[in-house]
Amino acid sequence: AAALYIVPTPIGNLADISSRAIEVLNQVSLIACEDTRHSGKLLSHFGIETRKTALHDHNERDRAQWIIQKLTNGEAVALISDAGTPLISDPGYHLVKQVREAGFNVVPLPGPCAAITALSASGLPSDRFSFEGFLPSKEKGRIDKLLALKEDPRTLIFYESPHRIVHSLESIVATLGADREIVMAREVTKTFETFLSGPAADVLQQVKDDLNQQKGEIVLMCHGHRTDSESDIPAVVVNTLKLLCQELP
Ligand code: SAM
Repeated sequence: AAALYIVPTPIGNLADISSRAIEVLNQVSLIACEDTRHSGKLLSHFGIETRKTALHDHNERDRAQWIIQKLTNGEAVALISDAGTPLISDPGYHLVKQVREAGFNVVPLPGPCAAITALSASGLPSDRFSFEGFLPSKEKGRIDKLLALKEDPRTLIFYESPHRIVHSLESIVATLGADREIVMAREVTKTFETFLSGPAADVLQQVKDDLNQQKGEIVLMCHGHRTDSESDIPAVVVNTLKLLCQELP
């Protein structure tokens, strides 16, 4: 039946595709991909011969209307991105919004997502977290963004590119502090999967000292802001210090 299927694809390890994903990609009449050449390799690996069309940030709004036309004709369409879950720092938001507004079903398949996969093994609190996508590439924007998140008690998750990792870690040390506990997950599900963790300043030093840590795909996670009650200092001591501070000139 006419529907748009949102289909996650592997973030590195091809075995992570689900059997339902393969089934849907075989059955739909059209697969909208971020990059048809890139996805062509993945699809041919699984022997999927479904027709492909490009849907990227620049043509998404126009292409959405064309896809809605396909749905109106009773066709089923799938959306995939280069890797992981579509719409998560990837195109698809405008398409899903327009398809829903046009009254068609949007059917999500669960599957790989770098943020969730990295968080699950990070050792950081996972009961509350905030996915923040990519930090701004310009320093001023990056610092402003991090300052706005400084007191957020939730675990913060960022996507990062290898050539910006040192700059971003420097900005984190400068804003959240040298002691903020962070975890850097690199090449998750791939051969050189690595987790570095510790105070932000230590992780920055390790990444500076080892050029290998500046390669590949990276998820950066920061422990949320700790409130007084969570710190190692007993509440009574914190309160006494607060009272003392009030008395200071
Ligand atoms: N939609 C994807 C998802 O569900 O994770 C994310 C797409 S975004 C354009 C690409 C970014 O995701 C990379 O720059 C990196 O931060 C992160 N990423 C993707 N694959 C990864 C992997 N295997 N290990 C670590 N990070 C990864």
